[in-house]
Amino acid sequence: MLRTHNCGELRKEHVGTEVTLCGWVENKRDHGGAVFIDLRDRYGLTQVVIGPPEADQAQIDAAGHVPAESVILVRGKVADRLEGKTNDKLATGAIEVRCPELKVLNACQTPPFTPGQSDLPGEDLRLKYRFLDLRRPEMQRALVLRSTIIKEMRDYFAEHDFIDVETPILGRSTPEGARDYLVPSRVHPGNFYALPQSPQLYKQILMVAGFDRYVQVAKCFRDEDLRADRQPEFTQLDLEMSFVDADDIMGLIDGLVAQTAKNVLGKDVQLPLPRMTYDEAMRRFGHDAPDLRFGMEIVDVTSVAKKTEFRVFRATADAGNFVRGIRAEGAAEKYSRRQIDELTEFVKDFGAKGLAWFRVEEDGSLWSPVAKNFDAEHLAEIKSLMAGEPGDLLMFLADSWEVTCKGLYALRKRLGAELKLYDSEQLHCSWVTEFPMFERDEESGRWVAMHHPFTAPLESDLDKLDSDPAGCRAQAYDLVINGSEAGGGTIRIHDQQTQSKVFGLLGIDEKTAEDRFGFLLNALRFGAPPHGGIALGVDRWVMLLAGLENIREVIAFPKTQKASDLMTEAPGAVDQDQLTELHLRSLAKKAE
Ligand code: ASP
Repeated sequence: MLRTHNCGELRKEHVGTEVTLCGWVENKRDHGGAVFIDLRDRYGLTQVVIGPPEADQAQIDAAGHVPAESVILVRGKVADRLEGKTNDKLATGAIEVRCPELKVLNACQTPPFTPGQSDLPGEDLRLKYRFLDLRRPEMQRALVLRSTIIKEMRDYFAEHDFIDVETPILGRSTPEGARDYLVPSRVHPGNFYALPQSPQLYKQILMVAGFDRYVQVAKCFRDEDLRADRQPEFTQLDLEMSFVDADDIMGLIDGLVAQTAKNVLGKDVQLPLPRMTYDEAMRRFGHDAPDLRFGMEIVDVTSVAKKTEFRVFRATADAGNFVRGIRAEGAAEKYSRRQIDELTEFVKDFGAKGLAWFRVEEDGSLWSPVAKNFDAEHLAEIKSLMAGEPGDLLMFLADSWEVTCKGLYALRKRLGAELKLYDSEQLHCSWVTEFPMFERDEESGRWVAMHHPFTAPLESDLDKLDSDPAGCRAQAYDLVINGSEAGGGTIRIHDQQTQSKVFGLLGIDEKTAEDRFGFLLNALRFGAPPHGGIALGVDRWVMLLAGLENIREVIAFPKTQKASDLMTEAPGAVDQDQLTELHLRSLAKKAE
Protein backbone atom coordinates (compact mmCIF):
# COMPACT_ATOMS: atom_id res chain seq x y z
CA MET A 1 0.00 0.00 0.00
CA LEU A 2 1.23 3.47 -0.82
CA ARG A 3 -0.65 4.88 2.19
CA THR A 4 -0.79 4.13 5.90
CA HIS A 5 -4.27 5.62 6.45
CA ASN A 6 -7.16 6.92 4.41
CA CYS A 7 -8.40 10.52 4.33
CA GLY A 8 -11.34 9.96 6.66
CA GLU A 9 -9.57 8.08 9.38
CA LEU A 10 -7.31 10.27 11.47
CA ARG A 11 -8.49 11.50 14.89
CA LYS A 12 -7.03 13.17 17.97
CA GLU A 13 -5.55 9.90 19.20
CA HIS A 14 -3.32 9.79 16.11
CA VAL A 15 -1.56 13.06 17.03
CA GLY A 16 2.19 12.52 16.83
CA THR A 17 1.93 9.55 14.41
CA GLU A 18 3.88 9.57 11.15
CA VAL A 19 1.44 8.91 8.31
CA THR A 20 1.32 8.67 4.55
CA LEU A 21 -1.88 9.70 2.79
CA CYS A 22 -2.88 9.60 -0.85
CA GLY A 23 -5.78 11.38 -2.46
CA TRP A 24 -7.06 14.20 -4.63
CA VAL A 25 -6.49 17.90 -4.03
CA GLU A 26 -10.02 19.08 -3.35
CA ASN A 27 -9.14 22.55 -2.20
CA LYS A 28 -5.98 24.56 -1.75
CA ARG A 29 -5.43 27.74 0.26
CA ASP A 30 -2.11 29.41 -0.34
CA HIS A 31 -1.33 31.71 2.54
CA GLY A 32 2.12 32.61 1.22
CA GLY A 33 3.95 31.30 4.23
CA ALA A 34 2.06 27.98 4.20
CA VAL A 35 -0.19 26.00 1.86
CA PHE A 36 -3.31 24.25 3.20
CA ILE A 37 -4.71 21.38 1.16
CA ASP A 38 -7.96 19.48 1.71
CA LEU A 39 -7.00 16.00 0.63
CA ARG A 40 -9.90 13.83 -0.45
CA ASP A 41 -10.53 10.15 -1.04
CA ARG A 42 -13.66 8.04 -0.85
CA TYR A 43 -13.46 7.96 2.96
CA GLY A 44 -13.30 11.70 3.65
CA LEU A 45 -11.18 14.84 3.77
CA THR A 46 -8.04 15.57 5.74
CA GLN A 47 -6.36 18.95 6.06
CA VAL A 48 -2.71 18.85 5.05
CA VAL A 49 -0.34 21.75 5.83
CA ILE A 50 2.87 22.39 3.98
CA GLY A 51 4.53 25.10 6.03
CA PRO A 52 7.34 25.88 8.42
CA PRO A 53 9.02 24.46 10.33
CA GLU A 54 8.53 21.10 8.52
CA ALA A 55 8.70 22.48 4.98
CA ASP A 56 11.17 24.97 3.50
CA GLN A 57 10.16 27.81 1.15
CA ALA A 58 10.90 25.78 -2.00
CA GLN A 59 8.61 22.97 -0.82
CA ILE A 60 5.94 25.52 0.12
CA ASP A 61 6.17 27.19 -3.30
CA ALA A 62 5.97 23.81 -5.05
CA ALA A 63 2.85 22.88 -3.09
CA GLY A 64 1.30 26.19 -4.09
CA HIS A 65 1.58 25.15 -7.74
CA VAL A 66 -0.18 21.77 -7.52
CA PRO A 67 -3.36 21.98 -9.61
CA ALA A 68 -6.73 21.13 -8.10
CA GLU A 69 -7.85 17.48 -8.50
CA SER A 70 -4.25 16.27 -8.87
CA VAL A 71 -3.46 12.99 -7.17
CA ILE A 72 -0.80 13.46 -4.53
CA LEU A 73 0.98 11.55 -1.80
CA VAL A 74 1.92 13.29 1.44
CA ARG A 75 4.04 12.05 4.29
CA GLY A 76 4.09 13.83 7.63
CA LYS A 77 3.01 13.94 11.22
CA VAL A 78 -0.51 14.20 12.61
CA ALA A 79 -0.86 17.37 14.70
CA ASP A 80 -3.58 19.10 16.70
CA ARG A 81 -5.26 21.93 14.85
CA LEU A 82 -4.74 25.31 16.43
CA GLU A 83 -7.26 26.33 19.12
CA GLY A 84 -10.38 27.70 17.41
CA LYS A 85 -9.38 26.23 14.04
CA THR A 86 -10.98 22.83 14.56
CA ASN A 87 -13.77 21.90 12.16
CA ASP A 88 -16.68 20.09 13.84
CA LYS A 89 -18.33 19.35 10.52
CA LEU A 90 -15.44 17.17 9.42
CA ALA A 91 -14.77 13.75 10.98
CA THR A 92 -11.06 14.54 10.82
CA GLY A 93 -11.62 18.16 11.85
CA ALA A 94 -9.63 18.01 15.11
CA ILE A 95 -6.31 17.27 13.41
CA GLU A 96 -4.17 18.16 10.44
CA VAL A 97 -1.17 16.51 8.84
CA ARG A 98 1.96 18.63 8.69
CA CYS A 99 4.15 17.61 5.83
CA PRO A 100 7.54 18.45 4.58
CA GLU A 101 6.93 16.23 1.61
CA LEU A 102 4.36 16.25 -1.12
CA LYS A 103 4.66 14.08 -4.16
CA VAL A 104 2.50 14.66 -7.19
CA LEU A 105 1.48 11.19 -8.43
CA ASN A 106 -0.46 12.67 -11.30
CA ALA A 107 -1.11 16.32 -12.06
CA CYS A 108 -4.64 17.17 -13.14
CA GLN A 109 -5.42 19.32 -16.18
CA THR A 110 -7.79 22.20 -15.54
CA PRO A 111 -11.01 20.26 -14.90
CA PRO A 112 -14.33 21.40 -16.47
CA PHE A 113 -15.78 21.31 -12.96
CA THR A 114 -14.59 20.19 -9.57
CA PRO A 115 -16.33 17.66 -7.34
CA GLY A 116 -16.19 20.10 -4.44
CA GLN A 117 -17.88 23.05 -6.19
CA SER A 118 -21.19 24.02 -4.64
CA ASP A 119 -23.14 24.60 -7.87
CA LEU A 120 -23.79 21.42 -9.81
CA PRO A 121 -22.80 21.62 -13.51
CA GLY A 122 -25.32 20.62 -16.22
CA GLU A 123 -26.07 16.90 -16.42
CA ASP A 124 -24.51 16.49 -19.88
CA LEU A 125 -21.19 17.77 -18.59
CA ARG A 126 -21.45 15.52 -15.55
CA LEU A 127 -22.09 12.49 -17.74
CA LYS A 128 -19.27 13.33 -20.17
CA TYR A 129 -16.79 13.68 -17.33
CA ARG A 130 -18.40 10.96 -15.22
CA PHE A 131 -15.03 10.15 -13.58
CA LEU A 132 -15.04 13.64 -12.06
CA ASP A 133 -18.73 13.53 -11.24
CA LEU A 134 -18.38 10.17 -9.48
CA ARG A 135 -15.80 11.77 -7.19
CA ARG A 136 -18.60 13.85 -5.66
CA PRO A 137 -19.58 12.61 -2.19
CA GLU A 138 -23.28 12.47 -3.22
CA MET A 139 -22.51 10.07 -6.06
CA GLN A 140 -20.21 8.02 -3.86
CA ARG A 141 -22.94 7.80 -1.21
CA ALA A 142 -25.51 6.71 -3.80
CA LEU A 143 -23.28 3.96 -5.18
CA VAL A 144 -22.34 2.75 -1.71
CA LEU A 145 -26.06 2.62 -0.88
CA ARG A 146 -26.65 0.65 -4.07
CA SER A 147 -23.94 -1.81 -3.16
CA THR A 148 -25.37 -2.20 0.37
CA ILE A 149 -28.90 -2.79 -0.91
CA ILE A 150 -27.76 -5.42 -3.41
CA LYS A 151 -25.75 -7.14 -0.68
CA GLU A 152 -28.83 -7.13 1.59
CA MET A 153 -30.87 -8.71 -1.20
CA ARG A 154 -28.27 -11.36 -1.92
CA ASP A 155 -27.88 -12.21 1.77
CA TYR A 156 -31.63 -12.42 2.26
CA PHE A 157 -32.16 -14.84 -0.59
CA ALA A 158 -29.11 -16.91 0.32
CA GLU A 159 -30.61 -17.25 3.84
CA HIS A 160 -33.80 -18.48 2.20
CA ASP A 161 -32.08 -21.22 0.18
CA PHE A 162 -32.07 -19.50 -3.19
CA ILE A 163 -29.52 -20.49 -5.79
CA ASP A 164 -27.91 -17.78 -7.88
CA VAL A 165 -27.90 -18.85 -11.52
CA GLU A 166 -26.64 -16.71 -14.41
CA THR A 167 -28.68 -16.75 -17.58
CA PRO A 168 -27.47 -15.80 -21.08
CA ILE A 169 -27.21 -12.27 -22.39
CA LEU A 170 -27.13 -13.49 -25.97
CA GLY A 171 -30.42 -15.29 -26.40
CA ARG A 172 -33.80 -15.40 -28.12
CA SER A 173 -36.12 -12.46 -28.01
CA THR A 174 -38.25 -12.53 -24.79
CA PRO A 175 -41.79 -11.18 -24.81
CA GLU A 176 -41.90 -8.45 -22.12
CA GLY A 177 -43.66 -6.17 -24.56
CA ALA A 178 -40.79 -3.84 -25.42
CA ARG A 179 -38.57 -3.60 -28.49
CA ASP A 180 -35.51 -5.86 -28.44
CA TYR A 181 -31.88 -4.88 -28.73
CA LEU A 182 -30.53 -7.15 -31.44
CA VAL A 183 -27.02 -8.50 -31.94
CA PRO A 184 -26.17 -9.77 -35.42
CA SER A 185 -24.56 -13.17 -35.64
CA ARG A 186 -21.32 -13.41 -37.62
CA VAL A 187 -21.44 -17.19 -37.99
CA HIS A 188 -25.16 -17.38 -38.83
CA PRO A 189 -25.60 -14.82 -41.60
CA GLY A 190 -28.87 -12.92 -41.32
CA ASN A 191 -29.61 -14.22 -37.81
CA PHE A 192 -29.71 -12.24 -34.63
CA TYR A 193 -29.48 -12.73 -30.93
CA ALA A 194 -31.71 -10.57 -28.74
CA LEU A 195 -30.47 -9.12 -25.47
CA PRO A 196 -32.82 -10.29 -22.71
CA GLN A 197 -35.70 -8.00 -21.74
CA SER A 198 -35.62 -10.17 -18.61
CA PRO A 199 -34.52 -13.72 -17.81
CA GLN A 200 -38.21 -14.76 -17.79
CA LEU A 201 -38.11 -17.91 -19.88
CA TYR A 202 -34.79 -19.14 -18.55
CA LYS A 203 -35.97 -18.88 -14.98
CA GLN A 204 -39.14 -20.80 -15.78
CA ILE A 205 -37.02 -23.48 -17.40
CA LEU A 206 -34.84 -23.60 -14.29
CA MET A 207 -38.02 -24.49 -12.38
CA VAL A 208 -38.75 -27.29 -14.85
CA ALA A 209 -35.18 -28.38 -14.20
CA GLY A 210 -35.95 -28.69 -10.50
CA PHE A 211 -33.96 -25.75 -9.11
CA ASP A 212 -36.94 -24.73 -7.00
CA ARG A 213 -35.59 -21.35 -5.82
CA TYR A 214 -33.63 -19.24 -8.30
CA VAL A 215 -32.34 -15.71 -7.87
CA GLN A 216 -30.15 -13.43 -9.97
CA VAL A 217 -29.13 -9.80 -10.09
CA ALA A 218 -29.84 -9.58 -13.79
CA LYS A 219 -29.14 -6.97 -16.44
CA CYS A 220 -32.16 -6.42 -18.70
CA PHE A 221 -32.40 -4.51 -21.96
CA ARG A 222 -35.42 -2.82 -23.50
CA ASP A 223 -35.27 -0.48 -26.45
CA GLU A 224 -37.99 1.94 -25.34
CA ASP A 225 -38.39 5.67 -25.44
CA LEU A 226 -37.08 6.73 -22.08
CA ARG A 227 -38.69 8.54 -19.21
CA ALA A 228 -36.93 10.08 -16.25
CA ASP A 229 -36.93 6.87 -14.26
CA ARG A 230 -36.23 4.41 -17.10
CA GLN A 231 -32.98 3.27 -18.67
CA PRO A 232 -32.42 1.12 -21.78
CA GLU A 233 -30.39 -1.27 -19.67
CA PHE A 234 -31.37 -1.76 -16.08
CA THR A 235 -30.93 -4.17 -13.22
CA GLN A 236 -33.52 -6.52 -11.78
CA LEU A 237 -33.42 -8.67 -8.72
CA ASP A 238 -35.05 -11.58 -10.48
CA LEU A 239 -36.39 -14.68 -8.76
CA GLU A 240 -38.55 -17.71 -9.34
CA MET A 241 -39.93 -20.40 -7.01
CA SER A 242 -41.69 -23.72 -7.43
CA PHE A 243 -44.71 -25.03 -5.50
CA VAL A 244 -45.85 -21.59 -4.35
CA ASP A 245 -48.83 -19.30 -4.73
CA ALA A 246 -49.03 -15.52 -4.93
CA ASP A 247 -49.24 -15.19 -1.14
CA ASP A 248 -45.96 -17.04 -0.70
CA ILE A 249 -44.12 -14.72 -3.08
CA MET A 250 -45.59 -11.56 -1.56
CA GLY A 251 -44.82 -12.83 1.95
CA LEU A 252 -41.21 -13.51 0.99
CA ILE A 253 -40.80 -10.04 -0.50
CA ASP A 254 -42.52 -8.47 2.55
CA GLY A 255 -39.66 -9.91 4.59
CA LEU A 256 -37.08 -8.50 2.19
CA VAL A 257 -38.66 -5.03 2.29
CA ALA A 258 -38.70 -4.99 6.10
CA GLN A 259 -35.16 -6.32 6.43
CA THR A 260 -33.76 -3.89 3.87
CA ALA A 261 -35.59 -0.89 5.34
CA LYS A 262 -34.30 -1.82 8.80
CA ASN A 263 -30.71 -2.65 7.91
CA VAL A 264 -30.18 0.05 5.31
CA LEU A 265 -32.32 2.96 6.52
CA GLY A 266 -32.93 2.02 10.16
CA LYS A 267 -36.67 2.20 9.46
CA ASP A 268 -39.36 -0.14 10.75
CA VAL A 269 -41.89 -1.36 8.22
CA GLN A 270 -45.14 -2.90 9.47
CA LEU A 271 -45.85 -6.34 7.99
CA PRO A 272 -47.76 -7.67 6.20
CA LEU A 273 -47.59 -4.89 3.63
CA PRO A 274 -51.08 -3.68 2.73
CA ARG A 275 -52.64 -5.21 -0.37
CA MET A 276 -55.37 -4.00 -2.64
CA THR A 277 -56.71 -5.34 -5.89
CA TYR A 278 -56.16 -3.60 -9.21
CA ASP A 279 -59.88 -2.73 -9.40
CA GLU A 280 -59.77 -1.11 -5.99
CA ALA A 281 -56.60 0.82 -6.85
CA MET A 282 -58.21 2.20 -10.01
CA ARG A 283 -61.39 3.07 -8.16
CA ARG A 284 -59.73 4.80 -5.21
CA PHE A 285 -56.62 6.27 -6.84
CA GLY A 286 -57.04 6.02 -10.61
CA HIS A 287 -53.76 4.13 -11.02
CA ASP A 288 -52.19 0.72 -10.47
CA ALA A 289 -49.27 2.13 -8.47
CA PRO A 290 -50.96 4.52 -6.05
CA ASP A 291 -49.00 6.71 -3.68
CA LEU A 292 -50.45 5.74 -0.32
CA ARG A 293 -48.45 8.25 1.72
CA PHE A 294 -51.51 10.47 1.67
CA GLY A 295 -55.28 10.21 1.32
CA MET A 296 -57.23 12.39 -1.13
CA GLU A 297 -59.02 9.40 -2.58
CA ILE A 298 -61.18 9.56 -5.65
CA VAL A 299 -64.93 9.68 -4.97
CA ASP A 300 -67.58 8.78 -7.53
CA VAL A 301 -70.50 11.23 -7.62
CA THR A 302 -72.08 9.95 -10.85
CA SER A 303 -75.25 9.02 -8.92
CA VAL A 304 -75.81 12.71 -8.06
CA ALA A 305 -74.61 13.94 -11.46
CA LYS A 306 -77.43 11.94 -13.04
CA LYS A 307 -79.99 14.04 -11.18
CA THR A 308 -78.56 17.53 -11.69
CA GLU A 309 -79.42 20.14 -14.28
CA PHE A 310 -75.74 20.82 -14.93
CA ARG A 311 -75.44 19.76 -18.54
CA VAL A 312 -71.85 18.54 -18.43
CA PHE A 313 -72.47 16.25 -15.46
CA ARG A 314 -75.85 15.09 -16.61
CA ALA A 315 -74.81 14.25 -20.17
CA THR A 316 -71.73 12.39 -18.96
CA ALA A 317 -73.75 10.28 -16.52
CA ASP A 318 -76.48 9.64 -19.11
CA ALA A 319 -73.88 8.41 -21.57
CA GLY A 320 -72.74 5.81 -19.04
CA ASN A 321 -69.57 7.69 -18.20
CA PHE A 322 -68.39 8.94 -14.82
CA VAL A 323 -68.19 12.03 -12.66
CA ARG A 324 -65.45 11.51 -10.11
CA GLY A 325 -63.62 13.95 -7.92
CA ILE A 326 -61.11 14.56 -5.19
CA ARG A 327 -61.19 16.78 -2.13
CA ALA A 328 -58.15 18.94 -1.40
CA GLU A 329 -58.44 19.58 2.30
CA GLY A 330 -58.13 23.25 3.28
CA ALA A 331 -56.88 24.12 -0.22
CA ALA A 332 -59.53 26.69 -1.18
CA GLU A 333 -57.45 29.57 0.08
CA LYS A 334 -54.21 28.25 -1.39
CA TYR A 335 -55.45 28.13 -4.99
CA SER A 336 -56.42 31.38 -6.69
CA ARG A 337 -58.76 31.44 -9.71
CA ARG A 338 -55.71 31.73 -11.94
CA GLN A 339 -54.08 28.70 -10.32
CA ILE A 340 -57.28 26.69 -10.71
CA ASP A 341 -57.27 27.67 -14.40
CA GLU A 342 -53.76 26.24 -14.52
CA LEU A 343 -54.97 22.98 -12.96
CA THR A 344 -57.69 22.89 -15.61
CA GLU A 345 -55.07 23.17 -18.36
CA PHE A 346 -53.05 20.51 -16.57
CA VAL A 347 -55.85 17.91 -16.57
CA LYS A 348 -56.48 18.61 -20.27
CA ASP A 349 -53.06 17.05 -20.93
CA PHE A 350 -54.60 13.79 -19.77
CA GLY A 351 -57.56 13.98 -22.09
CA ALA A 352 -60.03 15.74 -19.77
CA LYS A 353 -62.28 18.36 -21.31
CA GLY A 354 -62.32 20.54 -18.21
CA LEU A 355 -62.28 20.68 -14.45
CA ALA A 356 -65.42 21.44 -12.43
CA TRP A 357 -64.61 22.80 -8.99
CA PHE A 358 -66.37 23.90 -5.83
CA ARG A 359 -65.20 25.74 -2.76
CA VAL A 360 -66.71 24.81 0.61
CA GLU A 361 -67.59 28.18 2.22
CA GLU A 362 -67.43 29.05 5.92
CA ASP A 363 -71.17 28.44 6.26
CA GLY A 364 -70.78 25.02 4.70
CA SER A 365 -72.38 25.92 1.35
CA LEU A 366 -70.66 25.13 -1.96
CA TRP A 367 -69.51 27.98 -4.16
CA SER A 368 -68.56 27.51 -7.78
CA PRO A 369 -68.83 29.37 -11.08
CA VAL A 370 -71.24 26.59 -12.09
CA ALA A 371 -73.10 26.26 -8.76
CA LYS A 372 -76.19 28.02 -10.13
CA ASN A 373 -76.87 24.96 -12.29
CA PHE A 374 -77.37 22.78 -9.23
CA ASP A 375 -80.26 22.42 -6.78
CA ALA A 376 -79.26 23.06 -3.17
CA GLU A 377 -80.20 19.49 -2.37
CA HIS A 378 -77.78 18.09 -4.99
CA LEU A 379 -75.00 20.38 -3.83
CA ALA A 380 -75.52 19.08 -0.31
CA GLU A 381 -75.36 15.50 -1.59
CA ILE A 382 -72.12 16.19 -3.43
CA LYS A 383 -70.64 17.80 -0.34
CA SER A 384 -71.67 14.90 1.82
CA LEU A 385 -70.28 12.25 -0.60
CA MET A 386 -67.01 14.18 -0.71
CA ALA A 387 -67.02 14.72 3.10
CA GLY A 388 -66.39 18.44 2.35
CA GLU A 389 -65.49 20.79 5.19
CA PRO A 390 -65.21 24.60 5.12
CA GLY A 391 -62.04 25.65 3.33
CA ASP A 392 -61.87 22.53 1.11
CA LEU A 393 -61.58 22.58 -2.65
CA LEU A 394 -63.57 19.89 -4.49
CA MET A 395 -62.54 19.10 -8.04
CA PHE A 396 -64.31 16.87 -10.57
CA LEU A 397 -63.79 15.34 -13.97
CA ALA A 398 -66.72 14.22 -16.04
CA ASP A 399 -65.50 11.73 -18.61
CA SER A 400 -64.81 8.11 -19.50
CA TRP A 401 -63.51 5.80 -16.77
CA GLU A 402 -60.00 5.93 -18.29
CA VAL A 403 -59.86 9.72 -18.53
CA THR A 404 -61.18 10.23 -14.98
CA CYS A 405 -58.56 7.74 -13.75
CA LYS A 406 -55.68 9.33 -15.63
CA GLY A 407 -56.66 12.93 -14.93
CA LEU A 408 -57.47 12.50 -11.25
CA TYR A 409 -54.39 10.37 -10.67
CA ALA A 410 -52.21 13.13 -12.10
CA LEU A 411 -54.10 15.87 -10.27
CA ARG A 412 -53.88 14.01 -6.95
CA LYS A 413 -50.16 13.47 -7.47
CA ARG A 414 -49.59 17.12 -8.27
CA LEU A 415 -51.69 18.41 -5.36
CA GLY A 416 -50.09 15.93 -2.96
CA ALA A 417 -46.68 17.41 -3.76
CA GLU A 418 -47.82 21.04 -3.90
CA LEU A 419 -49.75 20.84 -0.64
CA LYS A 420 -46.92 18.83 0.94
CA LEU A 421 -49.28 16.11 2.06
CA TYR A 422 -46.49 13.66 2.81
CA ASP A 423 -43.10 13.60 4.39
CA SER A 424 -40.52 12.90 1.69
CA GLU A 425 -38.50 10.79 4.18
CA GLN A 426 -41.42 8.41 4.54
CA LEU A 427 -41.33 5.00 2.90
CA HIS A 428 -44.66 3.43 2.00
CA CYS A 429 -44.73 -0.02 0.47
CA SER A 430 -47.80 -1.96 -0.62
CA TRP A 431 -49.08 -4.55 -3.09
CA VAL A 432 -51.51 -4.28 -5.95
CA THR A 433 -52.93 -7.67 -6.96
CA GLU A 434 -55.31 -9.34 -9.42
CA PHE A 435 -54.43 -7.33 -12.49
CA PRO A 436 -56.43 -8.01 -15.63
CA MET A 437 -54.88 -10.74 -17.77
CA PHE A 438 -55.30 -8.73 -20.96
CA GLU A 439 -55.62 -5.18 -22.20
CA ARG A 440 -56.48 -3.90 -25.65
CA ASP A 441 -53.63 -2.54 -27.71
CA GLU A 442 -54.82 0.92 -28.71
CA GLU A 443 -53.32 0.81 -32.20
CA SER A 444 -54.16 -2.70 -33.35
CA GLY A 445 -57.25 -3.25 -31.14
CA ARG A 446 -55.83 -6.69 -30.27
CA TRP A 447 -55.52 -8.27 -26.84
CA VAL A 448 -52.07 -7.99 -25.31
CA ALA A 449 -50.87 -9.51 -22.05
CA MET A 450 -50.90 -6.97 -19.28
CA HIS A 451 -47.86 -8.57 -17.61
CA HIS A 452 -46.53 -11.22 -19.99
CA PRO A 453 -48.02 -14.15 -21.87
CA PHE A 454 -46.86 -16.73 -19.30
CA THR A 455 -49.06 -15.36 -16.52
CA ALA A 456 -51.68 -17.67 -15.02
CA PRO A 457 -55.28 -16.53 -14.66
CA LEU A 458 -56.96 -16.65 -11.24
CA GLU A 459 -58.32 -20.18 -10.80
CA SER A 460 -61.80 -18.73 -10.38
CA ASP A 461 -61.51 -16.86 -13.70
CA LEU A 462 -60.24 -19.79 -15.78
CA ASP A 463 -63.50 -20.14 -17.72
CA LYS A 464 -63.41 -16.42 -18.57
CA LEU A 465 -60.50 -17.17 -20.92
CA ASP A 466 -63.24 -18.34 -23.29
CA SER A 467 -66.24 -16.30 -22.25
CA ASP A 468 -64.91 -12.93 -21.09
CA PRO A 469 -61.19 -12.28 -21.63
CA ALA A 470 -61.60 -8.63 -20.55
CA GLY A 471 -62.92 -9.73 -17.17
CA CYS A 472 -60.29 -12.41 -16.65
CA ARG A 473 -57.95 -11.54 -13.80
CA ALA A 474 -54.38 -12.74 -13.40
CA GLN A 475 -52.45 -14.16 -10.48
CA ALA A 476 -50.29 -11.06 -10.67
CA TYR A 477 -48.87 -8.72 -8.06
CA ASP A 478 -46.92 -5.47 -8.20
CA LEU A 479 -44.90 -4.01 -5.36
CA VAL A 480 -45.45 -0.27 -5.01
CA ILE A 481 -43.09 2.03 -3.13
CA ASN A 482 -44.15 5.66 -2.66
CA GLY A 483 -46.36 5.59 -5.75
CA SER A 484 -43.79 3.90 -8.00
CA GLU A 485 -43.86 0.37 -9.35
CA ALA A 486 -40.86 -1.23 -7.65
CA GLY A 487 -41.41 -4.80 -8.77
CA GLY A 488 -43.87 -7.10 -10.40
CA GLY A 489 -44.47 -10.76 -10.92
CA THR A 490 -46.97 -13.51 -11.46
CA ILE A 491 -47.77 -17.15 -10.91
CA ARG A 492 -47.12 -18.81 -14.28
CA ILE A 493 -49.07 -21.11 -16.46
CA HIS A 494 -47.49 -24.54 -16.01
CA ASP A 495 -49.52 -26.62 -18.40
CA GLN A 496 -49.16 -26.55 -22.10
CA GLN A 497 -52.90 -26.46 -22.95
CA THR A 498 -53.59 -23.27 -20.97
CA GLN A 499 -50.42 -21.74 -22.37
CA SER A 500 -51.54 -22.47 -25.92
CA LYS A 501 -54.99 -21.06 -25.21
CA VAL A 502 -53.48 -17.81 -23.89
CA PHE A 503 -51.20 -17.57 -26.91
CA GLY A 504 -54.28 -18.04 -29.08
CA LEU A 505 -56.07 -15.17 -27.37
CA LEU A 506 -53.02 -13.00 -27.88
CA GLY A 507 -53.14 -13.73 -31.58
CA ILE A 508 -49.98 -15.87 -31.47
CA ASP A 509 -50.82 -18.80 -33.69
CA GLU A 510 -49.47 -22.27 -33.08
CA LYS A 511 -46.72 -21.98 -35.63
CA THR A 512 -45.46 -18.65 -34.29
CA ALA A 513 -45.66 -19.97 -30.74
CA GLU A 514 -43.62 -23.03 -31.65
CA ASP A 515 -41.21 -20.82 -33.56
CA ARG A 516 -40.63 -18.32 -30.80
CA PHE A 517 -41.27 -20.22 -27.58
CA GLY A 518 -41.12 -23.83 -28.72
CA PHE A 519 -38.46 -24.53 -26.13
CA LEU A 520 -40.78 -23.32 -23.35
CA LEU A 521 -43.81 -25.21 -24.65
CA ASN A 522 -41.59 -28.25 -24.92
CA ALA A 523 -40.35 -27.81 -21.35
CA LEU A 524 -43.95 -27.52 -20.14
CA ARG A 525 -44.57 -30.99 -21.61
CA PHE A 526 -41.74 -32.51 -19.58
CA GLY A 527 -42.92 -32.23 -15.98
CA ALA A 528 -43.22 -28.53 -15.19
CA PRO A 529 -43.98 -27.84 -11.53
CA PRO A 530 -46.39 -25.05 -10.54
CA HIS A 531 -44.20 -21.98 -10.24
CA GLY A 532 -44.13 -18.21 -10.03
CA GLY A 533 -41.80 -15.35 -9.37
CA ILE A 534 -41.14 -11.67 -9.38
CA ALA A 535 -38.57 -9.14 -10.50
CA LEU A 536 -37.66 -6.08 -8.44
CA GLY A 537 -36.29 -2.98 -10.15
CA VAL A 538 -32.97 -2.53 -8.39
CA ASP A 539 -32.24 0.92 -9.84
CA ARG A 540 -35.67 2.14 -8.77
CA TRP A 541 -35.34 0.62 -5.29
CA VAL A 542 -32.06 2.42 -4.77
CA MET A 543 -33.49 5.68 -6.13
CA LEU A 544 -36.52 5.47 -3.83
CA LEU A 545 -34.54 4.41 -0.77
CA ALA A 546 -32.08 7.23 -1.43
CA GLY A 547 -35.00 9.67 -1.68
CA LEU A 548 -33.94 10.70 -5.22
CA GLU A 549 -36.04 11.37 -8.30
CA ASN A 550 -33.60 10.73 -11.10
CA ILE A 551 -32.57 7.14 -11.76
CA ARG A 552 -29.29 8.27 -13.34
CA GLU A 553 -28.14 9.43 -9.90
CA VAL A 554 -27.89 5.82 -8.71
CA ILE A 555 -26.24 4.29 -11.79
CA ALA A 556 -22.51 4.63 -12.27
CA PHE A 557 -22.58 4.96 -16.05
CA PRO A 558 -26.14 5.71 -17.14
CA LYS A 559 -27.48 6.62 -20.56
CA THR A 560 -29.21 9.87 -21.40
CA GLN A 561 -32.91 10.16 -22.34
CA LYS A 562 -31.73 9.55 -25.90
CA ALA A 563 -30.01 6.30 -24.86
CA SER A 564 -26.49 7.67 -25.35
CA ASP A 565 -23.50 7.27 -23.12
CA LEU A 566 -21.88 10.70 -23.27
CA MET A 567 -18.60 9.53 -21.81
CA THR A 568 -17.80 6.68 -24.23
CA GLU A 569 -20.01 8.18 -26.95
CA ALA A 570 -21.90 4.94 -27.37
CA PRO A 571 -23.65 4.13 -29.60
CA GLY A 572 -20.98 4.92 -32.18
CA ALA A 573 -20.13 4.19 -35.77
CA VAL A 574 -18.22 1.01 -36.66
CA ASP A 575 -15.90 0.22 -39.55
CA GLN A 576 -17.31 -0.98 -42.84
CA ASP A 577 -15.24 -4.16 -42.37
CA GLN A 578 -17.04 -4.95 -39.14
CA LEU A 579 -20.38 -4.54 -40.86
CA THR A 580 -19.32 -6.73 -43.76
CA GLU A 581 -18.18 -9.44 -41.37
CA LEU A 582 -21.64 -9.35 -39.82
CA HIS A 583 -23.32 -9.47 -43.23
CA LEU A 584 -24.84 -6.00 -42.67
CA ARG A 585 -25.13 -2.83 -44.67
CA SER A 586 -26.30 0.39 -43.02
CA LEU A 587 -29.18 2.34 -44.56
CA ALA A 588 -28.63 5.27 -42.22
CA LYS A 589 -27.14 8.47 -43.58
CA LYS A 590 -23.81 9.02 -41.98
CA ALA A 591 -24.19 11.44 -39.05
CA GLU A 592 -21.80 14.36 -39.42
N1 ASP B 1 -40.02 -11.04 -16.08
C1 ASP B 1 -40.94 -10.15 -15.46
C2 ASP B 1 -40.57 -8.68 -15.75
O1 ASP B 1 -39.45 -8.40 -16.09
C3 ASP B 1 -41.02 -10.31 -13.99
C4 ASP B 1 -41.66 -11.58 -13.57
O2 ASP B 1 -42.77 -11.86 -14.01
O3 ASP B 1 -41.05 -12.28 -12.76
O4 ASP B 1 -41.40 -7.80 -15.57
